[in-house]
Amino acid sequence: MRTGLEELSVLEVRNLGYCYPDGREALRDVSFALAANERAALIGPNGAGKSTLLLHLNGLLPDQPPATPTVIVDGLPLRADNLAEARRRVGLLFQDPDDQLLPDSLGGRRLGPMQLGVREPELSQRVADCLAQVGLAGFADRLPHHLSRGEKRRVCLAGLLACEARLLVLDEPTSDLDPRGRRLLMGLLAQLPVAQLIATHDLEFVVESCARTIVIDHGRIVADGPTRRLLNDEALMLAHGLERPHILRHAHPH
Ligand code: ADP
Repeated sequence: MRTGLEELSVLEVRNLGYCYPDGREALRDVSFALAANERAALIGPNGAGKSTLLLHLNGLLPDQPPATPTVIVDGLPLRADNLAEARRRVGLLFQDPDDQLLPDSLGGRRLGPMQLGVREPELSQRVADCLAQVGLAGFADRLPHHLSRGEKRRVCLAGLLACEARLLVLDEPTSDLDPRGRRLLMGLLAQLPVAQLIATHDLEFVVESCARTIVIDHGRIVADGPTRRLLNDEALMLAHGLERPHILRHAHPH
């Protein structure tokens, strides 16, 4: 049955649960949807289940996709037979860019779109366009190991954009960045016309960049709503190992 939500959502997660092979329950009955172009933060203490959830969004978990789909990307229910297409639609930005970058030059960002069948001359153009979109125009011949951490992260983002991801899933994108790199990345994410789900401990970033926040703890969603309302709720924050960010302490509560 179509609920109408599919048309509006770029991501739908329905009653997702997951236990690791050792029996540890990491997710329980997680449900939410993201609209196209929506940017939402995913926050929670260490061990809450954030990474486990992100890994489900492009089918890296579970090992065998379930018979009844629990993750629907852009109307496509994630199943074993369409994982490649689902992975194209969901761009996962790992916490450590070195896990994602190939050691060749940045022109190597070609690989993703090449696998999608994009050929020259469109290929070089697309790589150049995506590098420009992340503020790295002219970087196509640079080697990844000569880049700063912030630049590496932006290169990874360019690679995801080159594959025309409909949803970006980012794991701690501001960690280890210096203030300038962090600002640059924040500005960039704000401009990208693509839905984003951002797992982070950087609550100041959340306040500035995400209108919506989802709080997860012990594998369950414990709150989902407007960022300022949730992050201003001291009791909620403390109950889930978080704290009310400083920039809200002197600001108007809404
Ligand atoms: P977060 O990203 O919020 O820190 P995780 O998704 O990494 O949380 O972890 C959720 C829960 O699953 C934690 O209890 C963690 O110890 C457990 N966990 C994570 N990875 C594994 C694994 N490979 N095997 C068993 N348990 C795991």
